[in-house]
Order: sequence, then structure tokens, then C-alpha cells
Amino acid sequence: MANRTLEAALYVVSTPIGNLADMTHRAVQVLQAADLIAAEDTRHSGQLLQHFDIGTPMAAYHDHSDAMVAERLLEKIEAGQAVALISDAGTPLIADPGYKLVSQARARNIRVVPVPGPSALITALSVAGLPTDRFIFEGFLPAKAEGRRKQLAGLALEPRTLVFYESPHRVQDSLKAMVEVFGIERKAVLARELTKRFETLIADSLGNLLERVAADQNQQRGEIVLAVEGLSREQQQADELPELEKMLIVLLAELSVKQSVALAVRLTGVNKNTVYEMALRLNKAVP
Ligand code: SAM
Repeated sequence: MANRTLEAALYVVSTPIGNLADMTHRAVQVLQAADLIAAEDTRHSGQLLQHFDIGTPMAAYHDHSDAMVAERLLEKIEAGQAVALISDAGTPLIADPGYKLVSQARARNIRVVPVPGPSALITALSVAGLPTDRFIFEGFLPAKAEGRRKQLAGLALEPRTLVFYESPHRVQDSLKAMVEVFGIERKAVLARELTKRFETLIADSLGNLLERVAADQNQQRGEIVLAVEGLSREQQQADELPELEKMLIVLLAELSVKQSVALAVRLTGVNKNTVYEMALRLNKAVP
């Protein structure tokens, strides 16, 4: 692909997360044809470009770069050039720089073109065996214990699968905090060094996972994604039962079992049979 065939735009190009064979054909074409590559770390990306025989000039870009850096890149595109954005690995903007550049480009009606490829988040989910119909990505947890616990506490009732990026020297502390907040039984998957030589996937309960990681230093090395099962409907209902019980006691004092059950189901969303059984039991107890 020659330079002139690439339209002026900001190309957001994904690169491999460890295995160079995962570089897409289109990523190589676009990076070769671009006028300039904006890279998170030009030295790091230099190796990738060299491997694929890409001689396009590079400029450093980070979201906390001087505002003039973004301005110059956007001006180049407005002047008719094709600028490609890459990060150190995976998809730019996914726990990586690029958000400010892309949002400013869009605000200026500059065309932004995705050139999709690997991302550790989706790679981990695709093999974790946890529900993927709905999930949330939490990126990196706060480094300090208090912030981490607070963040996790806010997620304790989350029913969707949770995905975290984790640094190897914090994985044990994070697992400990997850055990405390989510409980030892919650299913989780540690996905390490995906697509690389020492790729490892461990699926277990949070409690067992913590023990296994603590007992094996190798599991505290490399790049890590942690995926955690969301709060199950059954668990959610079990957690709600004490509240439901209080509610039913009040309702049963004023209304029939049928009316109390109907109202409690509407108010809590708990399964009707569960509410009915509880109401019958309580009805005997309520004077
Ligand atoms: N933009 C990247 C993406 O699309 O996945 C993520 C960049 S973020 C700065 C780096 C983090 O992603 C790592 O600390 C790790 O949590 C996760 N990660 C990246 N590559 C990985 C791999 N090969 N295996 C497991 N996790 C990986």
C-alpha cells in the first residue's frame, strides 16, 4: 500500500500483546503507509516496527504529553496526512494512552479509523469460561490498600463478570482483598502471559486461587488479567433474605399472605416461591 492510498485520518492501530504473529496484515499495511506513527514509547515500538520492516517516522504521544503534541498531530491530519496511533501493546485507549487524542480528533470532525486487533481484556474473556454476555472492565485497581478495598466494595453486588488488569507484584494483595470483599467461593480466573511462552490460565474459587498464587512465585510474574464471576442471582437473593424477612414481618402484620407476597416480590424482585415459603413460615410466627 503506497502512502497516497491512505486517506487523511487518525488510525487507531492495535498491536500484539506478546506474540508477534498476532500482528494483523492490515495493521502492517496501515503502519507502513501512514505518514507518521504516534507511539506511547518510541523505543519500545521501534522493535516492533523493525520486525515488520516499517520505516515510517515516529513521534512520542502520551495522554499527559504537552497539549501542543496532540495539536501538532491533529494539524498534520487536517493538512492531509495519515497519522497512526499505537501503544506499547494491544489496543490503544484500553488502559493505554489515546483517549485525549481521539476525543479531540472527533471534536474537530477528523476521521478516526479503527484498525482492530488484540487486547488482553478480550483475549482473557475469550478463554476464561465465565459469562461474557455482560461484563465490566475495571482496568487497574488502585495501588493503595484502602483505595483498592473501597473500589472492590462498590463492586460487591455487581452481577456482571468483572475484569481487572493486574500488576504481578500486587496480584496477591488484590486477591486477598477480593476474598475479603467477594468471599472465598466466588469463581475467578487468573490469565497470565497470554499468547506468550509461559501462558497460564488458572480457574478456581477466589480462596483457592489466592492459596495457589501465594504458594507459587511463578504465578506472581509477568502480565496478568484477573476475571471474577459476578454476584450470582442465588447469592444476591440469599444476601437480600434478612431484609426480605423484615419487610414480610411488617406486611404480614397488616395484609394477607397473598398480598404480602405480591408486594414483597414487586419491591425486591426476589423469586416468588422463595418469598411465599418465607411468608408461610413467618405467618405462623407472626401473632
Ligand atoms: N492496551 C492493552 C490491551 O489492549 O490489553 C493493555 C495495556 S495495559 C498498560 C497493560 C496490562 O494489560 C498488563 O499489566 C496486564 O494486566 C494486561 N496485559 C497486557 N498483555 C497481557 C498478556 N499478554 N497477558 C496477560 N495480561 C496482559
